[in-house]
Amino acid sequence: MFTDTAHVDPPALASAPDHRDLRSDDFWRAIPAYAHVSADEFRTHTFQNRHTVTNSRQLRETLADLVPASFYDDLEAGVKNAPMALRISPYLLALIDWRAPETDPIRTQFLPLRTQQQPDHPMLRYDSLNEREDSPVPGLTHRYRDKALFLPQDSCPVYCRFCTRSYAVGSDTDAVEKMKLTANLARWEQAFAYIASQPDLEDIVISGGDSYNLSAGHLQLIGERLLQMPNIRRLRYATKGLCVQPQKILSDHAWTDALTRVVELGRRLHKDVVVHTHFNHPNEITAITRDAMDLLTERGIHVRSQGVLQRTVNDDATTMTQLVRRLSYVNIHAYYIYVHDMVPGVEDLRTSLATAQHLEKHVRGATAGFNTPAFVLDTPGGGGKRDVHSAERYDRASGISVFESPSVKPGKQFLYFDPIAALDPAHQWRWTQPTERRAMIDAALAG
Ligand SMILES: *Cc1c(COP(=O)(O)O)cnc(C)c1O
Ligand code: SF4
Repeated sequence: MFTDTAHVDPPALASAPDHRDLRSDDFWRAIPAYAHVSADEFRTHTFQNRHTVTNSRQLRETLADLVPASFYDDLEAGVKNAPMALRISPYLLALIDWRAPETDPIRTQFLPLRTQQQPDHPMLRYDSLNEREDSPVPGLTHRYRDKALFLPQDSCPVYCRFCTRSYAVGSDTDAVEKMKLTANLARWEQAFAYIASQPDLEDIVISGGDSYNLSAGHLQLIGERLLQMPNIRRLRYATKGLCVQPQKILSDHAWTDALTRVVELGRRLHKDVVVHTHFNHPNEITAITRDAMDLLTERGIHVRSQGVLQRTVNDDATTMTQLVRRLSYVNIHAYYIYVHDMVPGVEDLRTSLATAQHLEKHVRGATAGFNTPAFVLDTPGGGGKRDVHSAERYDRASGISVFESPSVKPGKQFLYFDPIAALDPAHQWRWTQPTERRAMIDAALAG
């Protein structure tokens, strides 16, 4: 059943778990395959890499009879129907509560269950993120005047069910098919030449893919090349890694030292180099995360988090408040919470715009303003990120919201669509009828 959990009153704050209470037990020992793994071994990136699970056979070998056979069947059927392949670290796998995997927020994000999947919204095709239009060279998206997204490669240490790139890569045209991006120095040279040629560009997001999957040498090369350009003032290395495998910060000394050298070079040149990471639930933050963050803090490396709002994962005020406080506690700035993009195969994870607006109202004030995330929606059609409270119009009955983006695409309107299961039965029916659909959209556009 589909319920908007954000609209259930949060329990009294006194009963909420303490955000300072970070997990520090040998939690992985509950997993049959890790029962005899020592803390020292579990805290290495080499163990985490070697035992990363990428298919259901490995999952069966790892969990054995911790879950019933029906769970594996549900998962295998879910994977067949999902746009993203399976990939999860031992660390995240061990943080799942296997007594109740159906509702666990970490399981929900990485392991699809067929019984929970829902049909895609009929307007999903609308969501061409227009990456090609804004890509002057392959693997570089230049949409905003002074900042651009550089994609050096496209692999990650985990595959999130809700990834925007599954849509961009999997379902778009031939040109985007070519955006299967491997680490390739010749292509990087094209991107560097373009960035150097744009005097207005000051800010580069080194995204992907994931900076964790760059070698130490490549990470440093990219950072140094960009910092040497007089126009570049700011760099951000984007990585989900701190959430998936904080161990790497502590045990992959070559990688952490390379990052440190780029940050130090930036400091000498009076330029800003930071890490952008991605946490969605307080359970993802443990004593290992804190140890990794302590090391980065000692080295003067700042970290911000951009999370994704997901139904049943973090769409209630108590969880979101706890996430923001816990991130602050380990020195991570909560920067953005994104409304879920309209990507195929994950309709069960989307929330309504109203849920995002409601959560923002509850979270603001829970901790320092600079640790309070902006709740934003990346508008389908390439209008860029918009504050969730800034819709020009929002018809909660049809679920259609209309945004404008004067600094990015002046004069254009951008539409977002709430998940149909969140609407009343009459409007759910209207979405099944092509003429009714057109009428609802025309009405939204006309205002
Ligand atoms: C999100 C994004 C950026 C960075 O935007 P900020 O709001 O500064 O974090 C840059 N380019 C593109 C294409 C983006 O989607
Ligand atoms: S880490 Fe980021 S880029 Fe990689 S699969 Fe997850 S959401 Fe997508």
